[in-house]
Amino acid sequence: MYLVLLGPPGAGKGTQAKKLAQNLGLPHISTGDILRQNVKAGTDLGKQAKDIMDKGLLVGDDLVAKMLDERFSNPDIKNGFILDGYPRTLAQASTLDEILNRKGKVIDLVIYLNTSDEVIIKRLGGRLVCSKCGANFHAVNMPPKTQGVCDNCGADLYQRSDDNEITVRKRLEVYKHEVASLIGYYNQVKKLRSLDADLDAGLVLGQIIELSTKKA
Ligand code: AMP
Repeated sequence: MYLVLLGPPGAGKGTQAKKLAQNLGLPHISTGDILRQNVKAGTDLGKQAKDIMDKGLLVGDDLVAKMLDERFSNPDIKNGFILDGYPRTLAQASTLDEILNRKGKVIDLVIYLNTSDEVIIKRLGGRLVCSKCGANFHAVNMPPKTQGVCDNCGADLYQRSDDNEITVRKRLEVYKHEVASLIGYYNQVKKLRSLDADLDAGLVLGQIIELSTKKA
């Protein structure tokens, strides 16, 4: 199952993708996570991406495509993946098709996590991320058992530098500018399913699993 989770920042793509990946036994690939790992490691890619990410803008298509192509050369994707954060533009959607076609694969399903602005701002304002395993928590909705410490692996939690209100609004603006064409594209090829992602995360996960098992 080659599955894409589409939706605004704060829709819960990362949280859902991690759970779904465990449930389906598939790798979770997040372009945002790979970029953040590069920033942390101080690679050339990370150095080029950092300022752009902090401004809430999109990293250049060529850089992200190269990074994804490299990630897809890992044999762990032979039975599928859960892709989160890519594609973000129509051009990226065609790049994705091209990279996968070269490997004899196609996207099976795209799930759109429809979310209201109000819920997004609340979710991202309190989001805490584990510095080691990437697990997500929320200061109010899903607090860790011990403040500042990841329940899963015990590492420190941090707030992403792009989760401040100004950058969140910019990320939303960038997202809204591109999303309609992506939705149109995946609708046309009959791969798109939409869910109300304002609902409780557990309910949304159940619906995603139902859609992906129907499709498999
Ligand atoms: P995310 O973790 O998906 O919210 O992504 C965080 C940031 O990484 C975005 O605001 C962009 O700056 C960058 N990024 C992630 N995925 C992409 C992508 N597919 N294309 C361009 N930039 C991306």
